[in-house]
Amino acid sequence: MFRKVLIANRGEIAVRVAGTLQQMGIAVVAVYSDPDRGAFHVRNADEAYPLDGKTAAETYLDIGKITAIAKRCGAEAIHPGYGFLSENAQFAQACADAGIVFIGPPADVIRCMGDKVRAKEIMHGAGVPTVPGWSGVSNASAKTIAGEAGRIGYPVLVKAAAGGGGKGMRVVRDVSSLAEAWASAGREAKAAFGDGRVFLEKYIERPRHIEFQVFGDHHGNVVHLFERECSIQRRHQKIIEETPSPALSDALRGRMGEAAVKAARAAGYSNAGTVEFLLSDGGEFYFLEMNTRLQVEHPVTELTTGLDLVRAQLIVADGRPLPFTQDSVRQRGHAIECRIYAEDASRGFLPSTGTIEAWAPPSGPGIRVDAGVARGSEVSVYYDPMLAKLVICDETRTDAIDKTIWALKRFAVLGVTTNVEFLQCVISHPAFRAGDINTAFLEQHDLTTQMSERPHDDALVAACVALLNGQPDAANQPSATHATDGGPWQRAGAWRSG
Ligand code: ADP
Repeated sequence: MFRKVLIANRGEIAVRVAGTLQQMGIAVVAVYSDPDRGAFHVRNADEAYPLDGKTAAETYLDIGKITAIAKRCGAEAIHPGYGFLSENAQFAQACADAGIVFIGPPADVIRCMGDKVRAKEIMHGAGVPTVPGWSGVSNASAKTIAGEAGRIGYPVLVKAAAGGGGKGMRVVRDVSSLAEAWASAGREAKAAFGDGRVFLEKYIERPRHIEFQVFGDHHGNVVHLFERECSIQRRHQKIIEETPSPALSDALRGRMGEAAVKAARAAGYSNAGTVEFLLSDGGEFYFLEMNTRLQVEHPVTELTTGLDLVRAQLIVADGRPLPFTQDSVRQRGHAIECRIYAEDASRGFLPSTGTIEAWAPPSGPGIRVDAGVARGSEVSVYYDPMLAKLVICDETRTDAIDKTIWALKRFAVLGVTTNVEFLQCVISHPAFRAGDINTAFLEQHDLTTQMSERPHDDALVAACVALLNGQPDAANQPSATHATDGGPWQRAGAWRSG
């Protein structure tokens, strides 16, 4: 097994990967940008090296700098986490060329699956159902595009071949807005991914987003680790994920799992990956795309299967067979993940920056918090505003929902505004509880109007004082003495003036 591994990432995923490496006796090398000098992931590592620069492009996306550090410090492998270079075929190739193991699939698999058009062709060829559509051609005339859209049937979705993170996507309901959507999606894709190719897909109304965790090794084994339902999305970005999906019968789960394994085999897959499907109202499922990395939401799979996916990634990268078989993996209980963002839901989800003055996440059986910050951390404008993930596991979906609400109410953060209350509104909603969810859930239910008024500044200051005056356990104290309901009074203990 490797003795030293570099983590080419930051935030919660860098901290989470470091944990498994250290448990396995592997030295952790962190890299950091200027704003991340004192960051949690740096403090947590055995060695840390500067990337000299502020923006992502000059730091966590700089292939040359990162491979040079790995060579210099003697790291035998690089874990890319998610985002940044994790799905960059050039990076995987640069690692291979430098004699460093890239912890992920081979570069050519990343390249193929990173192109949504190519990926769909491969899956179609392998007999995995794909969303009906048209691959598009460069310089297609408006007439050709309109003809293809008409054949597919409105509504259609204009999508970027190189897309990711919901960028370069436009829903088109009739021909009048098609040409403009085609052009603007192309421009957005060109600016974001350096590749302006777009294609057409049937727009499935109110689908569920169901994905399967897959794992392959270099010995021909491919296994799926069940599904994750990721239908609660804001602007095509997931915010709450769970497993098992309340929408799948055992029979459908079996069919989709088989399709996921077939898809991974068709891609020539090894290491951890995710096969994403859309599930229609009528129960038909379609391949959407394959993500060739560890997903943000992987902990729900870990909590219900009892596996450590990063450990399995390392074993596979080391050339050994997968430590489990399809028959040996079992799912138990129900897990829900909430993404905790530094943003103000009541002000249009405006990102919130500043210093974290207090950080008191909940704890207890079946409660896992993967955090990239701690008290004193700076939340800057430079990176994704996700601070942490709250992951809950319990026997049934209802139990897991109740525990999640309990835990969110006790997730105390001061210094930046978070979406914790917004998440509470989503999880507490009767339709969510009933499992009646789809990707348009947050458009159908305007939950920001249900949030309570922001507490008065004096109340916030009082809560800060209570926390900073050495009441770290305040979050767990009974609330009988509190004069008002909700807000910091519910989270901090009794406070006396002076
Ligand atoms: P990205 O790579 O940007 O995440 P995806 O292809 O994974 O893009 O799609 C992200 C989300 O966009 C999906 O989870 C779904 O909500 C929506 N979406 C994508 N394709 C379709 C489609 N054909 N019909 C309806 N919704 C879609």
